[in-house]
Amino acid sequence: MHLLKFPRSPSSFASSGNAFFLVGHHVLDIRVFRKNQRCFRASISCSAVRNGSIEQLSDARLIYSVAPSMGHNQESHPESHFRVPAIVNALEEMQLTSKFRGPEVIELQHFEPASVDDIASVHARAYVSGLEKVMDQAVEKGLIFLDGSGPTYATATTFQESIVAAGAGLALVDSVVACSKIKGDAPTGFALIRPPGHHAVPQGPMGFCIFGNVAIAARYSQRVHGLKRVFIIDFDVHHGNGTNDAFYDDPDVFFLSFHQDGSYPGTGKFDEVGSGDGEGTTLNLPLPGGSGDTAIRTVFDEVIVPCAQRFKPDIILVSAGYDGHVLDPLANLQYTTGTYYMLASSIKQLAKDLCGGRCVFFLEGGYNLKSLSYSVADTFRALLGDRSLASEFDNPNILYEEPSTKVKQAIQKIKHIHSL
Ligand SMILES: [Zn+2]
Repeated sequence: MHLLKFPRSPSSFASSGNAFFLVGHHVLDIRVFRKNQRCFRASISCSAVRNGSIEQLSDARLIYSVAPSMGHNQESHPESHFRVPAIVNALEEMQLTSKFRGPEVIELQHFEPASVDDIASVHARAYVSGLEKVMDQAVEKGLIFLDGSGPTYATATTFQESIVAAGAGLALVDSVVACSKIKGDAPTGFALIRPPGHHAVPQGPMGFCIFGNVAIAARYSQRVHGLKRVFIIDFDVHHGNGTNDAFYDDPDVFFLSFHQDGSYPGTGKFDEVGSGDGEGTTLNLPLPGGSGDTAIRTVFDEVIVPCAQRFKPDIILVSAGYDGHVLDPLANLQYTTGTYYMLASSIKQLAKDLCGGRCVFFLEGGYNLKSLSYSVADTFRALLGDRSLASEFDNPNILYEEPSTKVKQAIQKIKHIHSL
């Protein structure tokens, strides 16, 4: 096998970190070279794919990775180790996994954990090493609490499982970026991971979150793949304050969060728009309680689309929280399974239009196991181009009238602040 190294900068976003190996125009293999010469961060599992290559990856519509963190669990805590298995079971039952969908759906396996350097691109090194050290205490006590303000627990496996979860996201970034170099419209990635990440601040854990998986992936996309501009959409019901803080003064990372006004952790007000060079590249839209499908469709068309078009991202990353569902116990919005289908298909289209389809979703919240797993399944359908089956799950009789006047006012206000 002849391996030829691509010269640097084969495309507008190629970087020092990445090299294809080509013979003529036929892709045989891909390696992602990093400082320590580690190879591609994952292998592929798919009934139709044996020795996975980047060509086979790029034939997929959806690539996902799973990191359920089974040891990171506190009895009767909503952010429990039942969450990811519930989703995976639903995907199996609804025949949405690679076992049923052949090469359309690929599960990445054996991916590497994120390195300390990856984590430290967002978090203070003192926090990363401190967390590793307190694992001894967690082994002794079984379960410890990491901070006084946010109810974040840790067990003996928390550190290791958290770096695996972050690594699951990085492997998807590798895959999606690699595919986009040989095909205009890359498959979408979905990291079925926990613990979630968007509340974890640079200095420490917060709100069930250990490491900022999305933020770490954003920095990784820039550092390893040379993607300059990253657009992050956070549709969790809570404000993604950790991601917000990580990029508050960074003009190259646009953070857009819409969330329930007044919900945890209380940040994410209209006037939090970024600072210094990053002024204008943070958008926070608090929505009144009761907001639902109609509100979100308007938010997408009138806020998200013009923002992304103006920013011109190289990749879109999504904090995909499912706790805005009307059945979720932790909040008071009225998203339906159909809302998540609409969001996923619209975001996929946006990525196709603006950045070669490069887009990775990261699981954040979602605590009603049924609505969580059905909504992720309908997200998968959207990303696969299947029709929605939301009407089989959603019950319109439990919905009440959305606060449309307040929603309209909120949307007008954010459009005014950001000149949309
Ligand atoms: Zn949440």
